[in-house]
Amino acid sequence: MWNAARSDRRARAILLDEEGRALCEDEALSTVPLSEADAEELILLGFRPADRAPLFLAADRGSRGGTWRDLRAASAFLAAEEASLLAFARALHLWHRSYRHCPACGAPTRLARAGHARECTSASCGKRHFPRVDPCIIVLASRGGRCLLVRQPQWAPRRFSAIAGFVEPGETLEQAVRREIREEVGLEAGAVVYHSSQPWPFPSSLMIAFRAELLDGEPTVSAEIAEFGWWSPRELLAGLDAGTLEMAPPWSVAHRLIRDFVEESGLSWPEPGNRSALR
Ligand SMILES: [Zn+2]
Repeated sequence: MWNAARSDRRARAILLDEEGRALCEDEALSTVPLSEADAEELILLGFRPADRAPLFLAADRGSRGGTWRDLRAASAFLAAEEASLLAFARALHLWHRSYRHCPACGAPTRLARAGHARECTSASCGKRHFPRVDPCIIVLASRGGRCLLVRQPQWAPRRFSAIAGFVEPGETLEQAVRREIREEVGLEAGAVVYHSSQPWPFPSSLMIAFRAELLDGEPTVSAEIAEFGWWSPRELLAGLDAGTLEMAPPWSVAHRLIRDFVEESGLSWPEPGNRSALR
């Protein structure tokens, strides 16, 4: 499949540079004919739905001019399918870069499975390696109609978001949710309910989002957070409107968790250009 795709004259490539930034043009991902891609390794991303033309990922050596955007910046203007394609491509790209050598024996590795695996070049090892995904949980914890958001020490002064953290080996997702809530604010959670998920390729996480009902008790500030606060849906909108509260960007699962919490109460989320939903 890889050879047929490579020799398809319609094949095109999206380009990422060393840092994983993509070549963009007119608020879209640029593609170049495969023959113009100056790359040592080509990764087959898939086939365009319209005409089944192959689409590759090529690591550009940085010689090309144009507008290069990182995923966070590009997510602000790319259409949802393109943003998700870039997230996929970037995660693969960074994984390939970090697996140039076999973790088992140290020999160089080479591309395998059309770029979705690498294999060790040592005849005595030959081990195959696959891209890894690191599960992370994010949880909007609430009680009595108000949600509890936290600010991490490295965040801007008004930036608050849902509690989040990596899943540890041997844990269920629900256990990870309860542990993170306990570690960050010292509270126990009652019901934990799945909300949604989002690939988070910074570099290779999968964010799995939950809602949780907090049990009685007073939260405390742990070493992992700088502060916390409680917000009702109306208080969230008022804080955003007044500029005293800042949220994760609209394309993030953290944003969607908080927006859903507001909208479930019957209030509407402010659309761009119409910042105030309260007036
Ligand atoms: Zn090896």
